[in-house]
Amino acid sequence: MTESEISIRVSGVTKTFGEGASAFHALSDVSVDIRKNEFFTLLGPSGCGKTTLLRLIAGFDHPTSGRIELDGEDISQLAPFQRPVNTVFQSYALFPHMTVAQNIGFGLEMLDRPKAEVAATVAQMLSLVRMEALADRRTDQISGGQQQRVALARALAPHPKVLLLDEPLSALDYKLRKDMQIELKRLQSETGITFVFVTHDQEEALTMSDRIAVMNQGTILQIGSPREIYDRPEQRFVADFIGDSNFLEAELLTGGASGRLRLGSGHEIEASVPEGMTAPRRVSVSIRPEHAALTSGAEDAALTGTLKEIVYFGTDTHYHVALGSGGSFIVRRQNSRGVTETLEPGAAVGISLGPRSVQVLRD
Ligand code: ATP
Repeated sequence: MTESEISIRVSGVTKTFGEGASAFHALSDVSVDIRKNEFFTLLGPSGCGKTTLLRLIAGFDHPTSGRIELDGEDISQLAPFQRPVNTVFQSYALFPHMTVAQNIGFGLEMLDRPKAEVAATVAQMLSLVRMEALADRRTDQISGGQQQRVALARALAPHPKVLLLDEPLSALDYKLRKDMQIELKRLQSETGITFVFVTHDQEEALTMSDRIAVMNQGTILQIGSPREIYDRPEQRFVADFIGDSNFLEAELLTGGASGRLRLGSGHEIEASVPEGMTAPRRVSVSIRPEHAALTSGAEDAALTGTLKEIVYFGTDTHYHVALGSGGSFIVRRQNSRGVTETLEPGAAVGISLGPRSVQVLRD
């Protein structure tokens, strides 16, 4: 990423609440570069510091130490209204007594923009969020999903360089949330505005984002595309928080991007290794349940064991295996119509691992 491609640069940001013995580090030395025109997601469990980081970018609060830059300029000390940044909150915060159009135009009127310009922008925003038909309806007389669209239109109206979104879909029901996810992605690519989106929902993060930063306990653990984060989780927390994983102990024999590994079963296999990790050493590895398959014989199996349980999920089936080398392992197989289950609990099974299915973890 070159300097000119960077929209927001967060460098070494720490945020401490309280002092002395009761001091709490909500963010510890967080650094991240967010690209222009990127859908960037902060993903992590409740309390990991996502909202705190968003509030620092918005200017509602200031870092204890570190810098925040926008387009190469330090904005750490600027007030929220001085930053070309807007925020959409979970609560929408609309004015209930005003119409949809008035809500969308409100911010522009506060900025003393000419009436004709306000009207033109409001019309453009109504069309962008597909709310033309409800322009004159009061916002306490529209649905939750429609209110969310108005809140988005209002935040996009002054054409900020960056739009911050703090769990904006969490109040919507499942179906509407799915629709709005697609809608948000469309809005981002049509406007070209950098979106920084906060969520604790891993599926939402995977489906919407260009890149994701996975956070835990005030730090960023890994940054990457959804595919990188899912296929190459470098830490146990990341592998566990996003999707399901099998964790095994192993011996890393050789390092490098594609290293060689000996599993507890004695089987040797290639694995992807985090940068800079040296070998030989004991490591933990993560294997996604769908990157493994059951084999009938033990010959070409990487692992062997006894089938304990078969759990049918509709789209796929989970096979719980007690490994001969100790521990348990889940294999996930996609179901297809008309295929009958031939395996039964108690059967001796082998597990084969596809190429690039084993990821070495840092911890
Ligand atoms: P959630 O998804 O629950 O909103 P989050 O990841 O957004 O979680 P933050 O709101 O950033 O988490 O909070 C991070 C930590 O900092 C939490 O433990 C929270 O209690 C603490 N914290 C946040 N604001 C303050 C404050 N003003 N004073 C003291 N502690 C705070």
